[in-house]
Amino acid sequence: MSLLEVKNLHVEIEGKKILNGLTLTMEPGKVHAIMGPNGSGKSTLAYVLAGKDDYEVTEGEVLLDGENILEMSPDERAAKGLFLAFQYPMEIPGVASMEFLRVAVNAQRRARGEDEISTPEFLKRVRGKAKDLQIDADMLKRGVNVGFSGGEKKRNEILQMAMLEPRVAILDETDSGLDIDALKIVSDGVNALRSPQRSMLVITHYQRLLNYIVPDVVHVMAKGRVVKTGGKELALELEAHGYAEYRDAAA
Ligand code: ADP
Ligand code: MG
Ligand code: MG
Repeated sequence: MSLLEVKNLHVEIEGKKILNGLTLTMEPGKVHAIMGPNGSGKSTLAYVLAGKDDYEVTEGEVLLDGENILEMSPDERAAKGLFLAFQYPMEIPGVASMEFLRVAVNAQRRARGEDEISTPEFLKRVRGKAKDLQIDADMLKRGVNVGFSGGEKKRNEILQMAMLEPRVAILDETDSGLDIDALKIVSDGVNALRSPQRSMLVITHYQRLLNYIVPDVVHVMAKGRVVKTGGKELALELEAHGYAEYRDAAA
C-alpha cells in the first residue's frame, strides 16, 4: 500500500483557489522532491497536509496508510507519524528546546497509547542526536529558536524530526537561508533518517539541496497541481531550463 496518497486535492484560502486537483502518491522508503516556482502552492500543500487551519479543502482526499487524515487534528496527524519542518520555524520564548522536545515526544507517545519516555532514555536519545547534528548542549537549554541563527533553527527542526521518528516527513524549503556548511549538516541529518519504512517529501525552489538529499522521485508543481513527475534527473533539467514551460503547461 502507498504510505501517503493525495488525491485530486482542491484547496482555497479566503475564496482564492490555491491547489487545483493535486495528486501525489508516495511509497514507503522513498524520498520525493517537489519543485516549482514561487507561488505555485508548495507551502500550501505542506500546511494542508499538516492540518493548519485557514485552508478550505473543497475537494479530494489525503490518505496516510489508507486512512483519510483531513478530518484529523494536527496532533492526531502527528501521532499517526506525520511531521512538518517549516520554512520559517517559530520562536517559543520561555520554553527550553529540551523541554519542548520532551513534550512533543510524550504527546506523540500518549496519542499512541504508549508510556512516557523515561528521563535517562530521553536524555540519551536527545544528546546523541544533537551531537550528530552538531547542536550544542547549551543551545538545548535556550528558548526554542530564540536568538538562533537560520542554520541553528534548521538543525533544531531536524533534531525534532529525528526525535519523533515520523513515517512521513515534509521539509518545506529547509535549504532557505543555509550556508553550505549548515546545508551539509542538515542534509546529513535528513539522509540519516532515510529508512525503508519512512517517506520524505522535500520541497524546494532550487536544485542545490537535491545534490545533498538525492531524491528518488521529483515532481514539478505549477499553479496548484503536479504537472510532471520523473526521476532525479528531472531536477537537473529544471535547473538548466527553468520553470517556464511548466507554467505554460499549467495555464
Ligand atoms: P509556494 O510555497 O510555492 O511559494 P504558497 O503555497 O506559499 O506557494 O502560495 C501559493 C499561493 O497562495 C500564492 O499566490 C500566495 O500568495 C497564496 N497564499 C498563500 N497563503 C495565503 C494566505 N494566507 N492568504 C491569501 N493567499 C495566500
Ligand atoms: Mg514561496
Ligand atoms: Mg513556500
